[in-house]
Amino acid sequence: MSNTNSVVTELLTAFPQGCTQMYFKSSLTALSHAMEDQVLASDTEDEQPLIIASFQKERFYRQEAHRYGRIGTLSPHVYVLAAPETEFSSISDVYEKIAFTEDDALSHEWHLVIIGKNYATCLICREKTHLPKTKASEMAMDNSRRFEGIWTFDRQVSQKAAEILLHRIASYRPELKKKINQALKLYCQSIPDQSNVRQFDVFDSPMINPDPFVQRLITYLQAGQYKLIKANRFLSVKEKKERLLNSVTDAIRRSLNPQEILQVAVDKLGEGMGVCRCLIYRCQETDLNAKINHEFLNDKIKSIKGKTWPLKNNPLFQEVLDVRESISIDDVTIDSRIQDHSSALSKLITSCSIISWLMVPILYQGKLLGMMELHHCDAIPITWKPEDIALVDAIATQVGVALIQAESYANLENLNEQLEALDRTRSNLVAITGHELRTPLSTIQVCLESLANEPEMSEELRQVMLTTALHDAERMRKLVQDFLTLSQLEGGTVEWNCEPLSLEECIDLSLSHIRSRQDQSVIPTIKNLVIDELPLVQADGEWLVEVLTKLLDNACKFTDGSGQVTIQVQEIDEDTLQITIADNGRGIEPEKLDQVFDRFYQEEGALRRSAGGTGLGLAICRQIVKNWGGKIWAQSEGKNLGSKFHFTLPKFDASSINTNRNKKNSHLSSQESLK
Ligand code: ADP
Repeated sequence: MSNTNSVVTELLTAFPQGCTQMYFKSSLTALSHAMEDQVLASDTEDEQPLIIASFQKERFYRQEAHRYGRIGTLSPHVYVLAAPETEFSSISDVYEKIAFTEDDALSHEWHLVIIGKNYATCLICREKTHLPKTKASEMAMDNSRRFEGIWTFDRQVSQKAAEILLHRIASYRPELKKKINQALKLYCQSIPDQSNVRQFDVFDSPMINPDPFVQRLITYLQAGQYKLIKANRFLSVKEKKERLLNSVTDAIRRSLNPQEILQVAVDKLGEGMGVCRCLIYRCQETDLNAKINHEFLNDKIKSIKGKTWPLKNNPLFQEVLDVRESISIDDVTIDSRIQDHSSALSKLITSCSIISWLMVPILYQGKLLGMMELHHCDAIPITWKPEDIALVDAIATQVGVALIQAESYANLENLNEQLEALDRTRSNLVAITGHELRTPLSTIQVCLESLANEPEMSEELRQVMLTTALHDAERMRKLVQDFLTLSQLEGGTVEWNCEPLSLEECIDLSLSHIRSRQDQSVIPTIKNLVIDELPLVQADGEWLVEVLTKLLDNACKFTDGSGQVTIQVQEIDEDTLQITIADNGRGIEPEKLDQVFDRFYQEEGALRRSAGGTGLGLAICRQIVKNWGGKIWAQSEGKNLGSKFHFTLPKFDASSINTNRNKKNSHLSSQESLK
């Protein structure tokens, strides 16, 4: 039954002068098809050739089964061999099927023998090596399988090949012995006169016109070549994309800084996809707008970096939120979503010259972290291919993970800072109990003991003792209160209520606090130089008034009654206001300008406090201003040359002017009730 001898070897033993040649699988397919077509195209009335085709495995035969169904009708002597995998079995059908065993040498060989009256040809090959296959490269690998063997139109060689194969068929299908003997007699013994024919020449047969065969062969070879090119192109595109995904992932994983991650991702993605503009911005589902901070740009395209990008009024953004996946528009001029040419979206498209648009959400566990946008701005629209969209989706997933990692790291750092702050607070509490609280407490104790133990004490002295004890008790209360406030601010336990506010009203409120607390005859003149019609600011009103009051309080404390304190506001950029409280009082030495914001810093030392105070006021101000992302700093020309304290405040976002105006009105009424 099974025969482990190669048909190629057997044939070469019979014809030692024959030499083999190397064939790629694509060439063998083309050759076999051309040979089979030769049979299908011939005049079969009196032809009835012998055809033996040996496929390595059933799966290769299956691709050709239909073709052999047609060939089988042309002659009674058509034999197809294969190693069965599912349905293939030894059976007499339109043609004879011969199932050989897996261990037969035939399972590594590829044979096709055709012997007609007028021509004979054979292709007898053996597979060279089995290359390992991977899914991605299967198509290209399959085509690069190599075979070694003989292709000839030599009748003698073809007859010998037929004879070898017919014997193998007989061993697998003994019941066909009679038919095989007939075939051997018919096709392998009657050798026409070949005296003037050279051995082993491809076009040895004088009766065959090679032209149609060559035409067919070329067609099949070209088809094979085309398949190969297509497979190569597919692989190189796939490889390029995999490289892009890897390089983005690699680059963003190197950073724990969200801004850096977004910039690297936008640059690599924009360049890798070859788009005109690529944007990445952070946003949440309820945001009205987003600010474009990260942009990749092709030279000639208009930049929109720093601009406000509409989200709430952008139907495309809303659609992404609904479907929770990417949306793509090949051509904005014909897309049904953008038919209203007077809409804000149409205007946006025109102003940014967008033609083809891809929006990909950056999601993490279903939560929106941001958006990636790819714009094509050339006159000719492009088609977003599913594999391109899948690639950008994969990059968005990586960016999402990187952002979450970076945020977790920042939270951890923040938590560490809070822990450190708590630790500092604890140490300070020990220090404060030791130094700051013990002094007034001792005074109170001495006063109260004297009052209790000396009944003879004069009424006047008794009054002095009581006033001193009360004064120090009040100092302790303020100290404890400021200390608790600072602890809350540093520990992050304060609940902030930021809203659009009128700065003028906050200034008025803190001025009235100052005036009610201090004796008007001893405080300097306070000049409010703030112009009317300031833009609204975005802050927590209670804490803003706290900062203003503390700075005004200090300015009054450290300036003579004959001096002057001024309040001024200026716009330093389109998003920020700067508030300055200046005095012409005691001033601060230049090297102390930063230290004044440290806890318990007092120029004259805590024990000689002529102006009172706790030494915590400016530390509290610094924490409050930090919360709204502002800066606070002191300026002074030196001792007795006055001081200026500046801090910055964000303006309320001017782009949503309508919402703003409404809020301003409602805020004004709430401020009225506050007064
Ligand atoms: P306190 O005023 O309760 O001592 P602060 O933290 O408010 O505590 O101020 C810290 C120190 O900074 C003050 O003790 C003072 O030495 C200095 N300082 C603050 N404001 C002024 C000012 N306007 N002029 C001069 N020195 C000032």
